[in-house]
Amino acid sequence: MSKPEKQTVTCPKCGETIAFTLWHSINTDMPEAIPDIISGKLFEVECKKCGYKTHVNYPLLFNDMIHQVMIYNAVPENAREAGDALNSMKTLYPGRTRIVLDQSTLREKASIFNTGLDDRVTEILKLIVMAQLQEQLAGKKLMGVYFIPGDEPSFEVALEEGSGYVPVSMEMYRSIEEQFRKQLSTDDEYYINQDWALTFLSSPQNQLQQ
Ligand SMILES: [Zn+2]
Repeated sequence: MSKPEKQTVTCPKCGETIAFTLWHSINTDMPEAIPDIISGKLFEVECKKCGYKTHVNYPLLFNDMIHQVMIYNAVPENAREAGDALNSMKTLYPGRTRIVLDQSTLREKASIFNTGLDDRVTEILKLIVMAQLQEQLAGKKLMGVYFIPGDEPSFEVALEEGSGYVPVSMEMYRSIEEQFRKQLSTDDEYYINQDWALTFLSSPQNQLQQ
């Protein structure tokens, strides 16, 4: 069930009190849940007085019933609470469970699952792409790498001075998926990110064949 609550925030520009809907949990019974999470609109509030748009952040459990995944957006302080909440559901819930610590990652995960992909395969692929870009990226400050959906999906390589885009090779994706089908048949990790992919690939039985 989607659980909304009326909340207020102070406009950072003019000081007006802005009312907004805070969601403790949201699920895909709300038709706009996925698009609004991916676009960031769910967390956007607009000041009625001066028109300034700002983003709010709070813990939110997103239950994507279409793609069978629960993603907990834990503002970092809530990571333990998020873990407890997912632990208590896990025995009854057959789908995937994830914890993310920022909205960019929430948006990215929602996009990945909405495209019908596995975020673990995507993180492994990202790691390979980043290794290939290593020389080009030398000396630049990397802010993050994000999956961008579309007819031709890409990775956004976000640098301090701007973003670059690298096409996602679906052929390579399928090859990774195939290679690790067995190892990835159980899915019980909450945190799937670049650290997870590094740890996964450094295990002797998960040697990548390219
Ligand atoms: Zn304002």
